[in-house]
Amino acid sequence: MEIRNKIKASGLKATPQRRLVYQAMQKFGHASIDEVVAFVQSVTPDMHISTIYRIMESFCEVGLLSRIYNSEGKTYFDITPTEHHHFFTETGEIVDFEDRELTALIREKCKNKIGDGQTIKKVSIQIMVAEKTDLPVI
Ligand SMILES: [Zn+2]
Repeated sequence: MEIRNKIKASGLKATPQRRLVYQAMQKFGHASIDEVVAFVQSVTPDMHISTIYRIMESFCEVGLLSRIYNSEGKTYFDITPTEHHHFFTETGEIVDFEDRELTALIREKCKNKIGDGQTIKKVSIQIMVAEKTDLPVI
């Protein structure tokens, strides 16, 4: 779907600033606010950081983006709207991992571990990947 229509379908006006911010997220897939600001300001140097923050917040509120957190608690924005998991590599790469069977299994195993009147809103596993260091001695 075209950027303009995607933003409109979420209920927001497809302003030029919003289209540019969404374009940044399409480029990155997962991005920190710093990456989005750098991209947007490389195109439109006059767009203030607070405007970009507000747009990112509004995108999260309407479900165009979601937030994910690495093991240090740093926030990244994610453009993939469906329920999925992530591999975080030591080099800072974030890779989507979708497995409906695994997600359904976790939901099933956890449904009785939450309180009455509660429901599992989202299942998102973070898998931290490290380089192997146990190389064989020659
Ligand atoms: Zn993702």
